[in-house]
Amino acid sequence: MIVQKFGGTSVEDAAALERLSEIVGAAHARGDCPVVVVSAMGSTTDRLADALSQAARGDGREAKRTLMQVARATLAVAGDLFEDRAQPVEAELALFFVELESMAAAVAVLRSVPAEAHDHFLAQGELISSLLVSRALSLRGLPAVRVDARDVLVTDAHFGRAQPDFEATEARALDRLGGPAARAEIPVVGGFVGATPDGRTTILGRGGSDYSAAIFGAGLGASLVEIWTDVDGMMTADPRIVPEARVLDTISAEEASELAYFGARVLHPLTLAPAIQKGIPVRVRNARKPEGPGTEIRSGATAGTEDVRSIACKRGIATVDVSSSRMLLAAGFLRTIFDVFARHETAVDMVSTSEVSVSVTVDDPERLPQIREELASLGDVDVARGRAIVCLVGENLKFTPGIAARIFRAVEDVNVLMISQGASRRNVSFVVAEEDVDRTVSLLHREFFGKAR
Ligand code: ADP
Ligand code: ASP
Ligand code: MG
Repeated sequence: MIVQKFGGTSVEDAAALERLSEIVGAAHARGDCPVVVVSAMGSTTDRLADALSQAARGDGREAKRTLMQVARATLAVAGDLFEDRAQPVEAELALFFVELESMAAAVAVLRSVPAEAHDHFLAQGELISSLLVSRALSLRGLPAVRVDARDVLVTDAHFGRAQPDFEATEARALDRLGGPAARAEIPVVGGFVGATPDGRTTILGRGGSDYSAAIFGAGLGASLVEIWTDVDGMMTADPRIVPEARVLDTISAEEASELAYFGARVLHPLTLAPAIQKGIPVRVRNARKPEGPGTEIRSGATAGTEDVRSIACKRGIATVDVSSSRMLLAAGFLRTIFDVFARHETAVDMVSTSEVSVSVTVDDPERLPQIREELASLGDVDVARGRAIVCLVGENLKFTPGIAARIFRAVEDVNVLMISQGASRRNVSFVVAEEDVDRTVSLLHREFFGKAR
């Protein structure tokens, strides 16, 4: 059994769905027993989030307009694909939009979005695409069955970023996905979406369909998890920033995790954990070029010989500096600071300390005002937004003397605001102003990977 996950661009229109059918059909014909996990189509999740915020500020009409655009786009894909047989599918799809519109209308009246409603609303993108994809596969004569993700992925009630219950999900996956696959049917399930044990809809956090695929793969004991996306694999940098970036044939799971964590959104940062734990390889592949091998990610995969394997970056970062001479060497100073972040459920990514100051980065600014207020009792606090982390990752970084000199010489005219080397010593990260990030990544890429081959 293999899990094949298709991201937003790989299900965005009729041509993408044709390619998907081709890829899944081939796996089915080979006897791979594919289980298909799909994202919402194109930018549906973004648009649903827009509609929800429009409704939340009381603008029900704007929210309705946004939802109608999504509905039109979705129905147009069904029309292109099914042509004169589109009517039954269109009718099924229309029901989702009726529900979305009434939810948006309720939110516009309340002018607030209860956490449960938020997750239920955003989850519709994957519930819609899994239906459409299963119908598209059936149109091709493939034995697809749609499975509601909420019947499989069991999570806690941490809305917005729910945590999976692996044990409960494994049992359900074997039953709801493994059963059909064993009968040579092709289950199609939405990623990103789950439900609490009492059936309330949850989501895993943005980009979470990759994570769903790995959770299902682990639960089913799959032999492979394929992440089908719009690039040739994991690359030496984001090709949108560095057009000459190259594809990596293999990458260790440890390297891939760090890249994902520091912004290489080609893979959701949590994807690899469940797969590694069960020793399941993950392969990132391009749905537009299915003949390409993609990148294989394996726990302990032989690292390449390069010092730096890839460069990632993450925008929208804030830095928080706390300095206090009173606290000089005071025991418990760091703990007191981290407690503040923990209480506000705000993760800290990078940390750098001196005797009298501590600097950290956070990527979720929501609670920063409260955090700042609490930290003010400990010392002078300076919060700066509009920053980015640049991160170089490579298994061999730890063995290479002089690497820091090479890195910082390459970016000598960029203002570097904070530096850290991860405890794994597999990465070197630093903070720059957001407007410098593209140039920084390009300079580093040229230094470590040279010009396009
Ligand atoms: P999907 O919708 O398939 O989940 P995403 O948009 O989430 O796709 O991820 C794919 C995108 O990740 C690519 O289009 C690319 O711009 C970006 N990306 C960032 N860093 C990398 C990298 N190191 N290698 C490949 N792609 C990367
Ligand atoms: N559709 C969700 C998102 O856009 C999940 C995913 O695509 O992975 O975040
Ligand atoms: Mg993604």
